[in-house]
This record gives sequence, C-alpha cells and structure tokens, in this order.
Amino acid sequence: MRVIVTGGAGFIGSALVRHLVLDKGYDVLTVDALTYAGCEASLKAVEGERTHRFVKADIRDRAAMDAALAGFAPDRIMHLAAESHVDRSITGAADFIDTNVMGTFTLLEAARGYWEGLEGDAKASFRFLHVSTDEVYGSLGDEGLFEETTPYDPSSPYSASKAASDHLAKAWQRTYGLPVVVSNCSNNYGPYHFPEKLIPLAILNALAGRTLPVYGQGENVRDWLYVDDHARALDLIAERGRVGETYNVGGRNERRNIDVVRRVCTVLDELAPANDPRESLIEFVADRPGHDARYAIDASKLEGELGWRPQETFDTGIEKTVRWYLDNEWWWRPLRDRYDGERLGLAAANGDKAPE
Ligand code: NAD
Repeated sequence: MRVIVTGGAGFIGSALVRHLVLDKGYDVLTVDALTYAGCEASLKAVEGERTHRFVKADIRDRAAMDAALAGFAPDRIMHLAAESHVDRSITGAADFIDTNVMGTFTLLEAARGYWEGLEGDAKASFRFLHVSTDEVYGSLGDEGLFEETTPYDPSSPYSASKAASDHLAKAWQRTYGLPVVVSNCSNNYGPYHFPEKLIPLAILNALAGRTLPVYGQGENVRDWLYVDDHARALDLIAERGRVGETYNVGGRNERRNIDVVRRVCTVLDELAPANDPRESLIEFVADRPGHDARYAIDASKLEGELGWRPQETFDTGIEKTVRWYLDNEWWWRPLRDRYDGERLGLAAANGDKAPE
C-alpha cells in the first residue's frame, strides 16, 4: 500500500504517518510545506525507515503535486494539509483561503489527472480521503449531535474555508468520478500538538507557572478525541469507506473548556507537583469572536459500518498527553521559543493588514 499524506509534518498528519508506517507497514510519502505549524521533528519516529519519504512541497504548487504523484505512484492520497487554527484565521484569513480552498482545488486537479491515467484495479481501488472538521456544521445548542446529514453552517474563516474544501472534494467525486471519501472529526488532542491550541497551551503554561487563559466563561463545549484514535479512523475510512460518503469521527467525550483546563491542572499536579494547585492560574479572558457554543459528534455511521471504536477515554488520553509533554521538552521547547502563547484572534484586521 502506497500512501501520500499531505500535512504529514503537522499534529494529526504526523500521528497518521507514524500509524501507517510503523503499525501498518505501508509505504508513505509525506508532502508538507513546513509552515509555522509543520515540524519535521514530529516525524522522528519514522526517521531512517526505508518505507517513509518526505518532500517539502506546497499543495498550491501544481507542478510539485504532479511530480509527487508521478514519482511516488500512490494507491491513496490522505489530504490533511491545511491552515488549522481558528484564532489565526480571524486575524489573517488569506492563508486559510489560499491553502484550504485553492490548495485543495490544486491537489484535487492533480489527483484527477493522475487517477485518470490509471487503469484496471489501480484505478478502481484508488482513494482520495479529504480530512475535515466538525466545525463546518456550525454550533449546537444544549441538545443534539452533528450527523453526516447536518447542514453546513460554518462560523469562522477557518471553518468556512474547510467547508468550501469539503464541497470541492465532493464535487470532484460527483462531476469527475474521482473516488473521494470525506471525514469530519471533532477536536483532537495528544502528543506533538502545536502549543497554540487549548490543551498543549494549558499544559505548557501551567508547567511554567503562567496564567491559563480561558475564553469567555469556559462554557463552550467540545467533543475531544485522542489523536491516535483519529489516525486509526482515517486509515479505516480510506480502506473501507464508501466512495462519495462522509464519515463523522468523534469520541463521545463532550467537555466544557473550563473542565478540560481543570483536568489538565489536576493531572499535572499529580505528575509534577508544584507549591500551589495549578487551577489558581486560570484566568477568564475576552471571548473569541463568533465562538461556537457546542460541538458534539454522532459517530454511529463509522462505528456501525466500519466497526471503529476509540481506544482512549478522555481521562486516559489526557494523562498520556500530559506525560508526553513532561517527557518531550526537546520537541516543544523550540516551538515555544518561536510562539510564546500570546493571544491571537481578537484584532479585527482588515484585508490582513497588521492591526493599527
Ligand atoms: P496542523 O496545523 O498541526 O498541521 C497542518 C500541516 O499542514 C502542517 O504540517 C503544515 O506545514 C502543513 N501545511 C499547511 N499549509 C500547507 C500547504 N499550503 N502545503 C503543504 N502543507 C501545508 O493541523 P492538524 O491539527 O494536524 O490538522 C490536520 C487536518 O485535520 C486539517 O485539515 C484540519 O482541518 C483537520 N482537522 C483538525 C482537527 C484538530 O482538532 N486539530 C480536527 C478535525 C479536523
């Protein structure tokens, strides 16, 4: 099995590459432009594996995508490359439109050209898995779950750009017959997570005795999934998912943000005791504009049709994650030196100019 993983130097992409190379024994080509969020060190576990190759390339570069496809001759493309941070999309949407929309368009066109040149079994079994988010569905009230049929209603520039890319991927299946499958997953957490996102930021700030910013009153609810469970789901969907279908991925682990941060504090206090309980560092800050109230995934299609089950509960996953950050300063220290956790996503920048 030969798989191209775009965005494989990112958080979820690198978990997927480790799973495909080390657990599944696949040949993998990681295609990644190494933006601020990409990190070759996240692929250390597959360094030296003859079944893994890395190419630094941008999904917006058609010639580079054509060359990667022709040179590697994949059976599958798993497309994760994206700008992924909601707060950054609020202050600078242009990169999100460029990469998530135009980049996905360019990759779909390159994939179509490659796939149309295949024959027989190779053509019939080829798959393009487009990896997306539950944020495309917008916000839930206190009740209900996102299903695959829930209408799209994105709130942020990030989720709007992902929604656009989902529509493109589905249209390339319906119009050109490209064998596309789409997955929409809830919030992930785990090792190698860039420390701008809630959980790694909370862990590293708490470890440093710095304040733990929680947006609004911390009442927003997310449905958390351990990243390795997502990686296993993606492999399963690429393997057995039906062409043209969407699969929701989620761990039935709804938590309010404030409870997530409190749990991080409790686990850190147990594993690396400090003088004062870390909860005393929590500080409520101005809410994110357009902050969706609640996300929750109904994953019964993935569970029923493909037999997927998450292996981690929120408590086991959080403990693993906190331990990993305690043991792997070599990975996060250089990133933390580059991005120190300053607040993003509040300024109303116009046309991506620096706010005055
Ligand atoms: P990430 O920001 O950690 O990684 C993104 C990777 O894509 C980085 O390695 C970056 O260098 C690369 N990249 C960005 N622009 C590129 C370009 N133009 N060309 C090539 N590579 C480029 O993101 P993540 O959290 O790992 O998310 C991966 C995918 O999963 C995204 O598509 C995201 O929308 C989706 N997703 C994320 C979550 C989550 O909770 N993090 C949940 C559901 C879905």
